Amino acid sequence: MKNKQIQDLEKQGYRIVGKHSAIKVCLWCKRSLCGEDVCYKNTFYGIQSHRCIQSSVSLFNCLHNCQFCWRCLEYTDAKVIENPDEPKIILDGLIKEHKEFLQGFKGNDKVTNKLFNESMEPKHIALSLAGDATMYPKLPELIDLIHERKMTSFLVTNGLMPDMLEKLLQHQPTQLYITLAAPDKETYLKVCRPLVKDGWERLQKALQLLKKFQRSTIRLTLVKYLNMHNAKGYAEEVSKVQPMFVELKAGMPVGYAQYRMIYENMPRHEEIKEFAKEIAKLTNYKIVDEKENSRVVLLMKEDKYRKLNFN
Ligand code: SF4
Ligand code: SF4
Repeated sequence: MKNKQIQDLEKQGYRIVGKHSAIKVCLWCKRSLCGEDVCYKNTFYGIQSHRCIQSSVSLFNCLHNCQFCWRCLEYTDAKVIENPDEPKIILDGLIKEHKEFLQGFKGNDKVTNKLFNESMEPKHIALSLAGDATMYPKLPELIDLIHERKMTSFLVTNGLMPDMLEKLLQHQPTQLYITLAAPDKETYLKVCRPLVKDGWERLQKALQLLKKFQRSTIRLTLVKYLNMHNAKGYAEEVSKVQPMFVELKAGMPVGYAQYRMIYENMPRHEEIKEFAKEIAKLTNYKIVDEKENSRVVLLMKEDKYRKLNFN
């Protein structure tokens, strides 16, 4: 990585690990540690936000240039990572940097000893911060290592590397997400701006693979005036795949997305919920949960087996 790129990320609170990975302690981890609130994955699935490491193993590698991306898109590298770091080096580094950052919370009046001590034993890795983790060739080994350490893994991908998803079938993350940011190809090209010609086709192939994963999620990242239309198109995709979960979430103008989105593009929670109702009407899914301050709604066919036990 070049110095300028590193400096930009460090200014935003990233801590770099090795050649292509990083953590950034998320707002919800901090709020949970202070006993104030938890993130929606805590609410929906039972993960513990104050024990969760928000991470990336492929900071700049991605085959999309999504309009709502937090990254600085100038630095996008459309290649699979060459000469990648070893999974153990990465995992040890992510845990070390995360714990070091949280040391600053020791002695904070709002943080109880119990919560602080728990946070020093992270239980959960979110592979979702920036870039697409499926462009890290050793991802299957990394997922296995995370689980060997009795931690869980939530992996979010754009679905453009179906060959890697095929490999992951034998090395499944705790929960796999594919982001579906468009209800049709035309919108997809406008919103995700893929760097390969067959982006939509790759995504379709990945969605077919998604249904073979134990805990599968389609995530709709919704931005007003951009991709929050054609509920029928989204409903058709959901019906084809029949994932365990469908999350509808408002795209937020944070990080570099602030330069490509304005506040008015961010749907209100009520608007997300109305859109979720439309999709529910067109599918065999129903609303089972929501978190208003994250502007997110969860759909399932039946509200069963969604909470995980991380203790
Ligand atoms: S799941 Fe995501 S939002 Fe929740 S604590 Fe982990 S990184 Fe933060
Ligand atoms: S897929 Fe993710 S990392 Fe890649 S451009 Fe889109 S939002 Fe950014």
